[in-house]
Amino acid sequence: MRNNVYLGHKAIKHLGQNFLHDPNIINAIVSSIDPKSSENLVEIGPGLGAITEALVQKIDKFTVIELDHNLTKRLRNHPILKDKLTIYEENAMQFNFTKLMRVNNKLRIFGNLPYNISTPLIFHLFKFHKNIQDMHFTLQKELVNRLAAQPGNKAYSRLTVMTQYYCKIVPVLEIPSTAFFPKPKINSAFVRLILHDNLPYPATSLKWLNRVCRYAFNQRRKTIRNCYKELLDIKILQKLGINPNIRPENLTLKEFVEIANWLDMDR
Ligand code: SAH
Repeated sequence: MRNNVYLGHKAIKHLGQNFLHDPNIINAIVSSIDPKSSENLVEIGPGLGAITEALVQKIDKFTVIELDHNLTKRLRNHPILKDKLTIYEENAMQFNFTKLMRVNNKLRIFGNLPYNISTPLIFHLFKFHKNIQDMHFTLQKELVNRLAAQPGNKAYSRLTVMTQYYCKIVPVLEIPSTAFFPKPKINSAFVRLILHDNLPYPATSLKWLNRVCRYAFNQRRKTIRNCYKELLDIKILQKLGINPNIRPENLTLKEFVEIANWLDMDR
């Protein structure tokens, strides 16, 4: 496996190509996705097919989106996969997922995502949240900790609030770096994101929700009354039933949304 060549393919670093090769981990991933034939499954970045090959043993047809032409070419010539996959050679960050939608069959999306694009890609996918049932991803372990964090925790951040706005986060499995080739410098974890059927706390303006989170988490050490002093009067916090003396990391998603909705209404 010299020069990062694996199964005859030279791994491209800027595409985040770290290929899974540990059969136990691959099996654990496939059983936690628990795919069924009737489902609308989509894999992002199938690469050399580590998860793909294990999955086709359970289901007949599904969709893959892969940017690297050399890899889609291999998938198109693969003796088993070629008849089972609908292959899009596209950038998943610009992909219009509405074209995969089917009536009463929400998307189930999964993948071992490139670390450098995982956050923007997840936010791109949230644009289609009404049509997605769940997503299973291998991500940097720290990122999983941040997504799953609860108020009061150091990892609780703007990313946590903006993600939990759309979905419930369930960390599933830690994956050692030795499970990949080439071996990445960071640790990974596999996570399930279950999209809310109905948003529990809808914001009237996502821009305001984002802004309110930014204000708060850029000034983590301050009390929220100080964080928000340019934006709102302490009386408004009291009216919303929010203690002005707590710190941003103790605000719940519901409270962030209440502040954002008040500001949106007020402008
Ligand atoms: N799923 C495989 C490969 C993971 S590596 C495995 O677990 O072994 C990440 C994969 O994502 C690579 O195949 C890479 O080419 C692909 N990729 C990187 N950026 C992408 C993008 N923007 N859109 C779609 N695929 C992308």
